[in-house]
Amino acid sequence: MFDYMVVGAGFAGSVMAERLASRHGKKVIVVERRPHIGGNAYDFYNDDGLLVHKYGPHIFHTNSRDVFDYLSHFTEWRPYQHRVLASVDGQLMPIPINLTTINQYFGLNLTAFEVDAFLQKLAEKREVIRTSEDVVLSKVGRELYEKFFRNYTRKQWGLDPSELDATVIARIPVRNNRDDRYFNDKYQVMPRHGYTRMFQRMLDHPNIKVLLNTDYREVRKIIPYRELVFTGPVDEYFDYCFGKLPYRSLQFRHETHHVERFQPAPVVNYPNEYPYTRCTEFKFLTGQEHPKTGVVYEYPTAEGDPYYPVPRPENAELYRKYEQRAKGTPGVHFVGRLATYKYYNMDQVVAQTLTLCTRIMGMRRSDLLGTQVEGHA
Ligand code: FAD
Ligand code: UDP
Repeated sequence: MFDYMVVGAGFAGSVMAERLASRHGKKVIVVERRPHIGGNAYDFYNDDGLLVHKYGPHIFHTNSRDVFDYLSHFTEWRPYQHRVLASVDGQLMPIPINLTTINQYFGLNLTAFEVDAFLQKLAEKREVIRTSEDVVLSKVGRELYEKFFRNYTRKQWGLDPSELDATVIARIPVRNNRDDRYFNDKYQVMPRHGYTRMFQRMLDHPNIKVLLNTDYREVRKIIPYRELVFTGPVDEYFDYCFGKLPYRSLQFRHETHHVERFQPAPVVNYPNEYPYTRCTEFKFLTGQEHPKTGVVYEYPTAEGDPYYPVPRPENAELYRKYEQRAKGTPGVHFVGRLATYKYYNMDQVVAQTLTLCTRIMGMRRSDLLGTQVEGHA
């Protein structure tokens, strides 16, 4: 008899299994339908010996000391500041839009002191910021909106920015200085030996068994357990009883190139050209030295594995129905990006899972995160 069955071996499932086993002494079985652990953060060495991320680029960043300290039990880190260029009108320019982007795009030589006034003249007044369109127009005006955001968003989501919650594009700041980092967070690091290695260390515990290539429906009646933690799509759990929740999918095209360096930045975004949104060169992220280099192109699609919840009011309303059902289902806990239908980054999923752990285990956060990690190999 297992105390818990955890469905999914991504961040949500692995953190949950690890804490239940090592801080709560519980016996846990993790069931994962893919042939590997790590969820969408899974990375591996490809046939050319290059470390690549199977499901697109995963860059770790957080402001949470708790999350950073917790994961530090399972990995060493490599400092890494992410940078992205956008291909617009035949030029490559920093995104998030910063002073360099403005000067390059408009052929100006503004200083940090002048750029705010310049942007204010471009910006459109908005009483209420409701959609992603409002976010951009109210900060940088229509021209930059059309060139940098509108088409990228239509490609990525199959929706116009006016149909998406403000939170989607609000992920991307606008800067009046030359800071060209993609993220503002305090901790910006990559797991030194990759994500999969980190997950292996989390799950390597005598109280944890991992069953790969197994959908939980195949085993839920065969393997006895007391409680369930579900990290897959919440609508799937309830057999789509209220209708399908829209998730956006991607197809990934991985390539190896016989050159040391393929492109001038870790990621190049293509808002207005090509059916793909961006191209990522992994060696920037991993720091690997190798005579060849691996890249991935992302092609957004409506069908396929669920990757992104789609933040817009009607979807939130539909999700609320599932959330109510989930709350009324005793002995089953829903956590993670798919199970709570939240456009969460990895660190937010870890934080959400740690919070659920404190509830399930009846522990204070400080006790849950006590310094020792017990029983791991
Ligand atoms: P998942 O990683 O999706 O794990 C859920 C697991 O459950 C999956 O492995 C699935 O196979 C399994 N599962 C589902 N249903 C069943 C079932 N019935 N039976 C058995 N197993 C099941 N975040 C960042 O912080 N930085 C980034 O740079 C970043 N880049 C991203 C890029 C892309 C292209 C995508 C798609 C996401 C990115 N993210 C990034 C977000 C990040 O992937 C997620 O926050 C995180 O992986 C979510 O973890 P999770 O455990 O909730 O879900
Ligand atoms: N976005 C855009 N142009 C860009 C980069 C981002 O319009 O060059 C918008 C787009 O809607 C995207 C959102 O901002 O989905 C969030 O971007 P982010 O890079 O955070 O997306 P993710 O890495 O989660 O795919």
